[in-house]
Amino acid sequence: MAESKNKKNVKVKCIPVSGGLAMGEIQIVRDPHLQVVRRSIPAAKVKKEINRLETALASTIKELQSARDRALKAVGQQSINIFEAQVLIASDKQFHDGVIQHIKSKRVNAEYAFQENLAETLSSLNQSRDPYLRQMVNDITSVSQRVLSILLGVGEGHQNGFKRPTILVGRIFSPGQIISYAKKKVVGFITSEGGPTSHMGLIARSLGIPAVMGNFDHSAKISTGMSMVIDGNNGEVILDPDKATWDNYRRISARKHAQPFAVLKRAKAINPVTRDGHHYGLAANLEIPGPLDDHLTRLGIGVGLYRTEFLYFNDQIFPDEEEQFQNYSHIAEKFHPRPVTLRTFDLGGDKYVDGTEGFGEDNPALGWRGIRVALDSSGQFKMQIRAMLRASAKGNIRILLPMVSDASEVVTAINIIASIKRELSRANVSYDDEIQIGVMIEVPSAAMQADYIAEMVDFFSIGTNDLIQYTMAADRGNYRVAKYYDCYHPAVLKLIQMAVIAAHDNKIPVTVCGEMAGDINLTPFFVGLRVDELSMNPTMIPRIAEWISQIDYIDAKRFVSRVMRLTTSLKVRRAFKDAYEYIRQQKKGSWLQQ
Ligand code: PEP
Ligand code: MG
Repeated sequence: MAESKNKKNVKVKCIPVSGGLAMGEIQIVRDPHLQVVRRSIPAAKVKKEINRLETALASTIKELQSARDRALKAVGQQSINIFEAQVLIASDKQFHDGVIQHIKSKRVNAEYAFQENLAETLSSLNQSRDPYLRQMVNDITSVSQRVLSILLGVGEGHQNGFKRPTILVGRIFSPGQIISYAKKKVVGFITSEGGPTSHMGLIARSLGIPAVMGNFDHSAKISTGMSMVIDGNNGEVILDPDKATWDNYRRISARKHAQPFAVLKRAKAINPVTRDGHHYGLAANLEIPGPLDDHLTRLGIGVGLYRTEFLYFNDQIFPDEEEQFQNYSHIAEKFHPRPVTLRTFDLGGDKYVDGTEGFGEDNPALGWRGIRVALDSSGQFKMQIRAMLRASAKGNIRILLPMVSDASEVVTAINIIASIKRELSRANVSYDDEIQIGVMIEVPSAAMQADYIAEMVDFFSIGTNDLIQYTMAADRGNYRVAKYYDCYHPAVLKLIQMAVIAAHDNKIPVTVCGEMAGDINLTPFFVGLRVDELSMNPTMIPRIAEWISQIDYIDAKRFVSRVMRLTTSLKVRRAFKDAYEYIRQQKKGSWLQQ
């Protein structure tokens, strides 16, 4: 552990994102533009600076070309315009010549000259009345960040990993970066964006890597190389711990129960039955199959949501039909006879093709995402459906469509699935002809038309992570609006109730698969609504099962009627808190009268 002269053991409260304890050395990954400094260069070194600039530009172009090829494979032709435009920007000769001229005339370092010339270009574009030119600002900024990060040796670097256990501190990391850093001795993350329901949060949890959200952007208290402890369970961070504190945390983290997966691994049985005998399904959300599968199957748990897009994030290469078929067959066999719900790729939003920061949209969450990408790039969608159908022969696969905002999307997707079935039949390939097709209810328009959509499909899965963000107009990964991202808001509860009622009126089952499903405070609500299944991060399953067994359905049902009459989030929150306390103290029934 590195010693320092600063004050020791400074505790900072952050927002917990992924549980467990992490101990390591801080590595700050700053947005590169924050770090550019001016250095004077002797005449003899001017050529070297120009070479550095040219190398950085050449690698940027290469990176962009390979990102373009990956996007082409992942989502098809429509996605590549942005990269084509960025390659053109990175190759702009006039701009290069300007920077070279700047290095020569002012004898300054390449990154400084680059940044100065960039600022000039951006300022004139920003003043332009032409919306097309103003739009170019985003593309130019994105390209420039790449060039600067190469010149400064920060950002996407660390190609070879770290020598010691490392905690990365940065603005945000993509799911792909989390996966690849996890293989490079990174043991924890602190980000200023990307809360508990962000995709980086989900992936950190499924890998069992502690993470918290806190804003250290302009903090003088932390520096690269300093030691740090993260307690992902309560969001506490200890900066520069002294030896006694460090040793104490080392002892705690060596204990079995400190590990995020410990409770699931130790669980003997899962019995989600209320005190008055009502059974609820519990299932696992999987991003990366593997680490916990054996424990889940031992406990009789199926897969309520397999986020297939993470297949891509895992190794940054988009899987072809055969690879997808192998992957889906493996999971279907492993969990057989329990159901495995395969969601079609939900790319877009904060789940972007790595190194691209999305499709260059101003508003990615409201942009080209989920089923919109699938239907516009139907070649990729068809390939995925073919792989899913081929893997379905054992009869336990279900297909789930993400980010549906209009019933017409469901009709188109169902028609495509039917046409692939016919193709497979003609080719004598076996598949499950009765395969169930479901829809994610995660956009308010879909919740409000749930009764109509329910007539078309076999099941619903309520994606509360997105449903909250779209209902409350609050980005799920933005800490500045975290207080608006409110799962207790009456509008959110109303939409969930609408979807459940619509499903049951149409005699189809309904799962809740957003993070709300694994929140013990909300369990009485879902029990009272009589949802069929709660699908969650596997580590929460034993706790939720235990909690369900403490509740009477009949009480929970009355609780729901009472809560649905409350008009403010504050009142709802209080009612849930009281319910929690009364269940905990086993004062049967009395929580209803509050
Ligand atoms: C959700 O939105 O609640 C959901 C389960 O999907 P994802 O988190 O992958 O967007
Ligand atoms: Mg979602």
